[in-house]
Amino acid sequence: MPCALAVSPHLDDAVFSAGGTLAHLARGGWNVVMATVFTASVAEPKGFALACQLDKGLSAEVDYMALRREEDLVAAAHLGIEAPVHLPFREAPHRGYGSPPELFGGLHADDRIELNLADAFETLISQIRPDLILAPQAVGGHVDHVQVVRALRACRPGVYPAAPILWWRDYPYTVRSADPQEPLREIFSDFDPCEIRFDAECESRKAQACAAYGSQIGFQFGGAEALVARLKDEGAVERFRLTGTLPRGVPPNAAAV
Ligand SMILES: [Zn+2]
Repeated sequence: MPCALAVSPHLDDAVFSAGGTLAHLARGGWNVVMATVFTASVAEPKGFALACQLDKGLSAEVDYMALRREEDLVAAAHLGIEAPVHLPFREAPHRGYGSPPELFGGLHADDRIELNLADAFETLISQIRPDLILAPQAVGGHVDHVQVVRALRACRPGVYPAAPILWWRDYPYTVRSADPQEPLREIFSDFDPCEIRFDAECESRKAQACAAYGSQIGFQFGGAEALVARLKDEGAVERFRLTGTLPRGVPPNAAAV
């Protein structure tokens, strides 16, 4: 059974950006592993990190990340993929990024987490041996997304780029502004664009999976109804840049554009 590994920075990114493709692969007989990187619970969050959960209506006593990991299990079930993997790295607000602008304002010089991420990715990739990897382009410029790209590219030869990688365009940052920042545009503009179309069933699975991230929907989209409308605008297609060579006919419907 061919295997796909989706490397998601946060608990929702892979589903928002590539959920239709993941459902499409799973239905086509692929083993799909969705691994989210920044999922560690941090006891007694303070300052901006605490504000990030209070502004979503969750009191300080709630284990915010445990709640989001639970949402992720439900999302994976909607996609029809296996139980997801949760890597124990701390989100940027727990690594010294102290405000919303800082999350999108470039990497801190002392944030060297990509070295640890690269080690974890090498281990994961050598265990799973994926035939295909899906990962972000860091459209929008969130520092955690940027670090995931840097870490994947820092994996040793033999690990990267052994499998072809479909680099997704990070939704909803792609639509939040007319010209979202793309700090890694120079890297990705050299790679071939590729799109994957999927049918109504996979589109529906993606919508249900997106809706499973209930703690994020109000903040990201302004509510469940708005989410449905925004996903409809996207249509049943996801767009990527490709490195490496896709096995012929795989995934089904992949097309150069
Ligand atoms: Zn994210």
